[in-house]
Amino acid sequence: MAKLYFYYSTMNAGKSTALLQAAHNYVERGMKPMLFTALLDDVAQIHGEKGKIASRIGISSSAIHYDQGTNFWTAISGNVPNCVLVDEAQFLSREQVQQLAQVVDEANIPVMCYGLRTDFLGELFPGSAALLAWADTITELKTICFCGHKATMVVRVAADGFVEREGSQVEIGGNERYIPFCRKHFNESLKSGLCAGGTIRSQQRSALPEQDEMDSPIGPQR
Ligand SMILES: [Zn+2]
Repeated sequence: MAKLYFYYSTMNAGKSTALLQAAHNYVERGMKPMLFTALLDDVAQIHGEKGKIASRIGISSSAIHYDQGTNFWTAISGNVPNCVLVDEAQFLSREQVQQLAQVVDEANIPVMCYGLRTDFLGELFPGSAALLAWADTITELKTICFCGHKATMVVRVAADGFVEREGSQVEIGGNERYIPFCRKHFNESLKSGLCAGGTIRSQQRSALPEQDEMDSPIGPQR
């Protein structure tokens, strides 16, 4: 029986890499995966080319763009793929998560969604809230804070280097504006307005594990 899967994490934990690996596994077995990613200007900027899911370790695949007007049931049921993979799943609407659940339950096609759990203020994204509520299987993809603890939160840094305490959930800007932190250092950063640990971003990145470890679907076990 097919299932609805939700793989969530904070920024830079290798979600796109995990998605592309899963797609590759299907293709290798002669099966047809159907890939979707969100059509948002900032996301296109983060991931480079439009209509593509690209991972930071250099692999990519073409994907169908979805926006708020996409009906996943209509888009998928006409194609009958062996599985559906959705990147940037935090941007799904509640209705779209319901459509994906319908694909699982009525067409018996497994759907794997990959997305951020919370935004830069620690609030759930709508798509992630619906997926946390309705997915059959929920898996956390892990990355670490500069302190070595598991990073579960993310802050957004403005052009002046200060941590943002307000603003829209979705904003133009690349990966480098988002810094993953453990909850303690997320709260410290949000309170002080400066990234915790007194680290500048480049130092913070060098304190993170090697890409291979970070991008493993399992990730560091903590
Ligand atoms: Zn920390």
